[in-house]
Amino acid sequence: MFSSGVKRELTWIVTTLWALLFFCWLTDWWIEGFVFYLLFYIARQLWSMRKFEKWMEGGTQAAFPPASGLWSELTYLVSRKQRALEKHADLQFYKSEQFKAASMLIPDAIVSLDQQNHIEWFNATSEKILELRRQDVGRKIEGLIRQPQFIEYLKAQSYQKSLTIHSLQGVQRTFRIKIIPYFDNHKLLIVRDITDLYNMAQIRRDFIANASHELRTPLTVLKGYLEAMIDTPGPHQDMWLPALQNMENQSERMQAILEDLLTLSKMESETITAKEVMVDVPGILKKLHTEAEQLSQGQHDFEFAVDDTLLIKGHPEPLKSVFMNLVSNAVRYTPAGGKISVRWYHDAKGAHFAVTDTGIGIAREHIPRLTERFYRVDTARSRATGGTGLGLAIVKHILERYNAKLHVDSLIGKGSTFRCDFPLQRVQVSEAANE
Ligand code: ADP
Repeated sequence: MFSSGVKRELTWIVTTLWALLFFCWLTDWWIEGFVFYLLFYIARQLWSMRKFEKWMEGGTQAAFPPASGLWSELTYLVSRKQRALEKHADLQFYKSEQFKAASMLIPDAIVSLDQQNHIEWFNATSEKILELRRQDVGRKIEGLIRQPQFIEYLKAQSYQKSLTIHSLQGVQRTFRIKIIPYFDNHKLLIVRDITDLYNMAQIRRDFIANASHELRTPLTVLKGYLEAMIDTPGPHQDMWLPALQNMENQSERMQAILEDLLTLSKMESETITAKEVMVDVPGILKKLHTEAEQLSQGQHDFEFAVDDTLLIKGHPEPLKSVFMNLVSNAVRYTPAGGKISVRWYHDAKGAHFAVTDTGIGIAREHIPRLTERFYRVDTARSRATGGTGLGLAIVKHILERYNAKLHVDSLIGKGSTFRCDFPLQRVQVSEAANE
């Protein structure tokens, strides 16, 4: 029921009371005896209290006070609690030191920023890559990294994507910069030197672009001769004609693949710096409608619902390629008699280009892989309809350039919808409808 301190105190009181009673019985000084006992008890408590207070003021280093009874128990409990707290603080300190030591070894520069972009702490690599010094803690990062692309990225406050730059603090290397917001608007700035990785990818891109380019001319020559041979009547015409026509078809396929590979590598290379303009999408879709009808050769029913006032910022050719790829896929993967509807509209989220067909549809497990190069659900069908397996990879690359996203909805045997979502920042709704 009672703690050991209280028990000890009670034992002391009972024992001393017995002694007092015996003393009073002997001397007959009952009142004086009890008054003296009370005064003595109060004085003893005050003395212990003062000792305890002194000990508390002195911290853990102070000697254990020579208290007894309840006060000794209290002293013991407080010191035990204090030791536990100290142990916990030591552990926390050890952990934070361990984290700091580990962060120092990370080969990426890591900088923690507060709400106003003041530097809170940084790791050792930041001293090398970002040239930060101890005295920079508390300073604004914009004042230390003045690279305009970085400032723009920092201020845009849209950190889903990382930023790749080719020089930083006067060093001509390739860096990937990523900002990760955390805890109450704080930010973690991570800078990684990706020069080797970037160069390797560049070599691969250059190889594909050069190989495609080099193969283009010989293929054109071959195709030219094949056409001439088909058109020239000769003694063995009947025997060779099917073979020559097959060769011509195959060379056309190769040409289409080379053209798509070149388009892809052009999209990937970051050297395209042509100025963005307001693209007349309704105008493009008007022409596309005619081309789609030609491609379909009257086998499909088309419906075009186009917002004539809706324009987006970008480049006309790549955007046309996106729209054409999606519409031609709808034609190629929708059996005769099917319906294809194309919509160009906008809402609170941005502008949308959607192509819906009543075609063969795509099984759910294939959808995430459709934009991979040469990924086809049915290779034979893709080839038979003149597909290269690169169309959607091109679409994805172009859309990425414009921060747009491709969304695919499909049900096998029912049809598919391919929708491109363009961000609101790119949208312009003109007052007058386009002619
Ligand atoms: P391909 O040249 O083979 O059409 P794409 O990259 O354009 O290459 O498309 C990749 C694959 O996605 C196609 O092979 C096809 O299987 C599937 N696909 C694309 N569009 C459609 C569609 N509208 N309906 C059904 N399947 C489609």
